Amino acid sequence: CGIIGRVGYGDAVDALVTGLENLEYRGYDSAGVAVQNGTGLAVRKQSGDVSDLEATLRHDQPTGNVGVGHTRWSTHGPPTDQNAHPHTSETDEVAVVHNGVIENHAELRDRLEATGCEFTSDTDTEVVPHLLEQHLDGRDADSVSEVADAFRATLRDLEGSFALAVLVDGVDAVFAAREGSPLVLGVGEDAYFLGSDVPAFLDWTDRVMYLEDGDVAVVAPDGLELTDQRGEPVERDVERVEWS
Ligand code: GLU
Repeated sequence: CGIIGRVGYGDAVDALVTGLENLEYRGYDSAGVAVQNGTGLAVRKQSGDVSDLEATLRHDQPTGNVGVGHTRWSTHGPPTDQNAHPHTSETDEVAVVHNGVIENHAELRDRLEATGCEFTSDTDTEVVPHLLEQHLDGRDADSVSEVADAFRATLRDLEGSFALAVLVDGVDAVFAAREGSPLVLGVGEDAYFLGSDVPAFLDWTDRVMYLEDGDVAVVAPDGLELTDQRGEPVERDVERVEWS
């Protein structure tokens, strides 16, 4: 139901939690965050309120300069800790937050399970990290452009609606896409933000790029690349929003 992302220098986690609080008005049943800090992806997620997640983070807070957060409004699978986002691939190489519904999830899941993938949730979302991990196979998974290609290939497998924000272990970037579910980019002084809605990151910036359906964003601390799902460059204006 809600997505927040922060990509910059310095720690992302406090901003992610504030972003999730800012999105609480949308309604949700579970919350979670994932960060990237050079020693693997750290994921904390659970059913319940953002304040429950904060209580967990108080005694077990990971750090990282690149991160994503999610509030879930269940469509596929009950609101359990396992079904909370972010969802990871088997090797924990990939972490995914998703708003929307992957309509062809059952068919994709059958295909993935036939190749030996083991699923740990009931969600439609979990096909995405497994698919991306397969598309990364044989590529240089430390290269932003190779991961971006694998991400776009993954998107082309999906039918349905999605706003997605994805971390890949060892890559200093968030990979994001929009198709039928809202996703906006915030351009801050020292960080980029992603949000399912502007209030998610309005504490830090009012400079906004509205993504359109089909857009794919590769957001790194020092720059931003926008393409379509085939990799053709796309341009979107930065607008200053007035929000009251
Ligand atoms: N369909 C996904 C799920 O049930 C995402 C729901 C949402 O948009 O929060 O987990």
